[in-house]
Amino acid sequence: MKTALKSTPRKAVTREQAGLFGWQGIALERPEDWELTAFGGDVEQGHAYLDNGEQMCLRIRWETPRYLYGLDAAMRRYRRAVRRESNMKMVFEQQDPAVYPIEFGANKELRPFTWNGGEAAFGIAWRCKECNRIVIADVVAPVTARQQRTGRRVLATITDHADAGDTVLWAVYGFAFRTATIYNLDKALLETGRLRFAFRGPAQTWLRVERWGMATHALKKAPLDAWPEELLRMLKVRRTGNLASDKITWQGHAAYRFSAHAAQKGIKQLVSPPTPVEGVVWHDEERDKVLVVVAGGDTASDTVDCVAETVRCSR
Ligand SMILES: [Zn+2]
Repeated sequence: MKTALKSTPRKAVTREQAGLFGWQGIALERPEDWELTAFGGDVEQGHAYLDNGEQMCLRIRWETPRYLYGLDAAMRRYRRAVRRESNMKMVFEQQDPAVYPIEFGANKELRPFTWNGGEAAFGIAWRCKECNRIVIADVVAPVTARQQRTGRRVLATITDHADAGDTVLWAVYGFAFRTATIYNLDKALLETGRLRFAFRGPAQTWLRVERWGMATHALKKAPLDAWPEELLRMLKVRRTGNLASDKITWQGHAAYRFSAHAAQKGIKQLVSPPTPVEGVVWHDEERDKVLVVVAGGDTASDTVDCVAETVRCSR
């Protein structure tokens, strides 16, 4: 039985958007030298830290409380956490929301703040009136007025929810794509030379998005036409029947679009038919990358097309 699922990101990621940061529904305009250095949690509650390799660190925490007015409690927890990290007595001050652009404050219960205590920081906390998400973002140890301006400008670009098409941007290290919000990140393995995102969707659906660096080297070991088979093996897909693979052009690059069927796991395989697995793999010669999108489950074909359409590399 096919379930009607909304799994269709319609809006492509532009090349410029690849310079954005996107994670768990949080997105922001990232200065070129700022990059993700730590992350944790999930879409309900988590954090992501970015820094510019020098004195500035941007820390974003988010949570979605079950009740409408969780902002005070979230700020109390934040202040307690900061105080624990800081040895000195912390001076915490709320600022006038007018220090941020009016458009940024629209639909937000906005609380800008600064604190001082060993380290210094400024930041913003808000509750989004559209999705009820609470975000607390701060920039630690700003030194000069110029750095403060940069920090504030970056803070004011943060968005906290999916777009109108119910898709969210994932963008790190010059690699970007969009996924439907029905897919939850299961695991992200971000290594030098290989970025791997594993998502889980409803009704046993799953999605993998990967970027491999040093493609020329990797392709010497396994030419592109061998990748569909290799990828299914690496993803531990227990294939039933043949693997169909067609040479195509994807985003102007040599590519293979493939499909197969996978046996269900455990006892399920006795009662349930194999499920579709679909994928596309292409070689971006200019940036020396191999890009991979593979999906499983009833909506696999649609998901692969929609996600692969949004994949961009800026470096
Ligand atoms: Zn929101």
